[in-house]
Amino acid sequence: MNRLRVSIDEARALVLAAVELLPVRSASIDEARGCVLAEAVFAPENVPTFDNSAVDGYAVIASDVVGAGATPVELPVVGEIAAGAAGEQPLVSGQVIRIMTGAPVPPGADAVVMVENTERLDDGQRVRITASVHPGQAIRCAGDDISAGTRVYEAGMVIRPAVTGVLASVNARTIAVYPKARVAVLSTGDELIDDGSPLTRGQIRESNKTMLIGMVTEAGASPVDYGVIRDDEALLESTLREAAESCDAIITSGGVSMGDYDVVKATLSRIADMTWMEIAIKPAKPFAMGHIVTVGGHTVPVFGLPGNPVSSMVSFELLARPALRKMMGHTAEMLRPAIPAVADAELRRNPDGKTHFQRVVGSFGADGRYHITGGGPQGSHQLSSSAVATAIAELPDGPSVPAGSEVTVYLLSL
Ligand code: AMP
Ligand code: MG
Repeated sequence: MNRLRVSIDEARALVLAAVELLPVRSASIDEARGCVLAEAVFAPENVPTFDNSAVDGYAVIASDVVGAGATPVELPVVGEIAAGAAGEQPLVSGQVIRIMTGAPVPPGADAVVMVENTERLDDGQRVRITASVHPGQAIRCAGDDISAGTRVYEAGMVIRPAVTGVLASVNARTIAVYPKARVAVLSTGDELIDDGSPLTRGQIRESNKTMLIGMVTEAGASPVDYGVIRDDEALLESTLREAAESCDAIITSGGVSMGDYDVVKATLSRIADMTWMEIAIKPAKPFAMGHIVTVGGHTVPVFGLPGNPVSSMVSFELLARPALRKMMGHTAEMLRPAIPAVADAELRRNPDGKTHFQRVVGSFGADGRYHITGGGPQGSHQLSSSAVATAIAELPDGPSVPAGSEVTVYLLSL
């Protein structure tokens, strides 16, 4: 089998070029949460739609309360407007109307005195005002959040929780989005046990599928669990074909490394147009990418991740995740945020022609810089230290990185 020897950047370019945007779908706001907008959104109406009070207090005519800070002004209270009321009774000079936050400012009023600057008199019949206001004070004008006709969001906007709030506020009930990719996740290997039964010699507990399902979810996609598949070509082929029929992408773990013969390699080579890569990185050197064509003629990308748990994690981060993000319409957030970090301890490595991606633990220091220490054992089977990593440090080929040096890290979490 020919393996393409590539750098991580070349590998990522290949993987990104091999996936396409998912077809645009219309979605309710709830369905769209976490997705990327596929079309611009316009506001059909002002937000807010009417002038309303920013505070609880009294709607006034500002000129009636000039100088109230020095000499309090007492005025009759002729009405009350709660949030939700129409508040159509006009205010005339020499009177005030009690008003609540968000209630419409009555016609004639041009300011609101906050309740803290008033004293209630005669059981609420009158009020003493102890501060003056300028015209417009404490009034939120119609359209001063969003004015009718505004292009509120461009295509490409990530629909975060506050964005869903804005979509609801402009009454955009149905929106065009790139859907969440349905991603089949399966692990392969006769040695894997995932049902809690006691291990016999040579068996190990399945961990990659469990981890990858979470990573797929965290990438904003929807995982579909296709289980642990024995090293059996017929079973693997039928599972992969079934997954291709109902999913947008497939992630396999195991069986893509350099071993002489592997069922995964044999099966994928036969049913998908795989590119087998040897990437100049550590961990996660072997990686495979290809497509399975469905009965209906769709091409479904397949990412073949290595079986070693840390390699699986790192190749998901560096390759599969950006590809899934691209399919889901992301343009800016395909890779984790990369920032410079200070190595507080030596990051050990040897020159070996490879870029190393070490899992590290870090935090922002009082100097505002991100400080990292080595994340413990870096063996590709030692998932426990990677599990506590907050970042992945990129160490270009060369000797160990001395303490105090600056390195680039990709932030996994803050
Ligand atoms: P492979 O890539 O299939 O040759 O597997 C490489 C190493 O990773 C072997 O030690 C496997 O036992 C281990 N491995 C493969 N798949 C998994 C998995 N799903 N969970 C935990 N370890 C795995
Ligand atoms: Mg295997």
